[in-house]
Amino acid sequence: MTKILHRTIKAELPRVVSAQGVFIEDANGRSYLDGSGGAAVSCLGHGNGEVLDAMRAQMDRVAYAHTSFFTTDVAEDLAERLVGLAPDGLDFVYLVSGGSEAVEAALKMARQYFVEIGQPQRRHIIARRQSYHGNTIGALATGGNVWRRAQFQPILPETYHVSPCYTYRDQRPDEDAAAYGQRLADELDAKIRALGADQVIAFVAEPVVGATMGAVPAVPGYFRRIREVCDRHGVLLILDEVMCGMGRTGSIFACAAEGVQPDLVTIAKGLGGGYQPIGAVLLSDAVYRAFEEGSGLFQHGHTYVGHPVAAAAASKVVEILSRPGVMEHVALMGDKLQESLESALAHSSFVGDIRGRGLFRGIEMVADRASKEPFEPKLRLHARIKREAMERGLLCYPMGGTIDGVRGDHVLLAPPYVISPEEVDQLVERLADAIDAAT
Ligand code: PLP
Repeated sequence: MTKILHRTIKAELPRVVSAQGVFIEDANGRSYLDGSGGAAVSCLGHGNGEVLDAMRAQMDRVAYAHTSFFTTDVAEDLAERLVGLAPDGLDFVYLVSGGSEAVEAALKMARQYFVEIGQPQRRHIIARRQSYHGNTIGALATGGNVWRRAQFQPILPETYHVSPCYTYRDQRPDEDAAAYGQRLADELDAKIRALGADQVIAFVAEPVVGATMGAVPAVPGYFRRIREVCDRHGVLLILDEVMCGMGRTGSIFACAAEGVQPDLVTIAKGLGGGYQPIGAVLLSDAVYRAFEEGSGLFQHGHTYVGHPVAAAAASKVVEILSRPGVMEHVALMGDKLQESLESALAHSSFVGDIRGRGLFRGIEMVADRASKEPFEPKLRLHARIKREAMERGLLCYPMGGTIDGVRGDHVLLAPPYVISPEEVDQLVERLADAIDAAT
């Protein structure tokens, strides 16, 4: 009898005992192809010797020192690398231990920024209905996932939500990408005006939506229009790259592909690559200077901020990700994954949409392709796909979500970047079998 409160109490979880590359093995000797990198975490695959060596070396030097007393070479090195790879203007880094912590810190930074510059009346956060920003109270309130929020609603701080950029369901037949992006930007503009333009702190969005509906990129130009709206009202733009960042979509920062300069960016998951729990917020020069010239501190902090072993692991992960050819391989394997999924799933009338960027792909399941009607929630299709996939030696990340009252099931794929073309074929073959068995 387990003493752990597992995520799902009734599920019998196999015990994992070893992992190497894109494969992970349980105590019964069953091997699984890690088609989702856990939850888009294991970007370098399992058992990367260079990262393990970097961690060992740091542990031998110093495993922990509180950041109120010291900084470390590894934390400074990590920050330098991240700033060097980030879009222009993001010049400073705040280190945390994971994605929700990164989002919480970014929200508080945004609020404190306005206090520092003499606009303490600003108090509203706007995000999108199709979003997940973490499970702590502030991050959960920011996200728009109805199911995740439902029972905690009474204790969540008030936040506001606008429409997601969701081409498959929401772009109108008479609208091109530019008109669709403009309509959404106008909606944000109207929401800011309705709340009072001088009352809004920030707009928060994932450049490519992950956990809510599965790898949904925005239409070209959407984020530039959103940036214009934020600038018009002095509102900060926070981009949450916890899932889609760190090379997942084929560029180290997903927002690089959108050509926008956010004020704050959150990262986690792939930053530690699963070797250590770590996240970060990158902040603009303007936000940093407001703290520096104002109170001289960011009024926040957790015990494990800037943990040296986590920083050592992340610094090595980032160094590996920035080597020549790595992002090109992600883009190449991502295109192959998309094409293979399209051809292997073409026969299934239950596959509504296959989308994404790089090695970040989503498959939206529908009961009827023509009407896009989702499956009945009680069928728990996503859970069946997950079970069937595991039986075939595949880990994928299926989820059900509720968006604007519409419940849908999707499968998220986010394999390690070291995946080979043959392993992509294997992944797709096992997934296609699992979907057929589950539908
Ligand atoms: N933000 C996004 C976009 C995420 O996808 C997640 C997790 O899936 C989080 C934040 C929360 O990260 P964590 O689970 O590390 O707290």
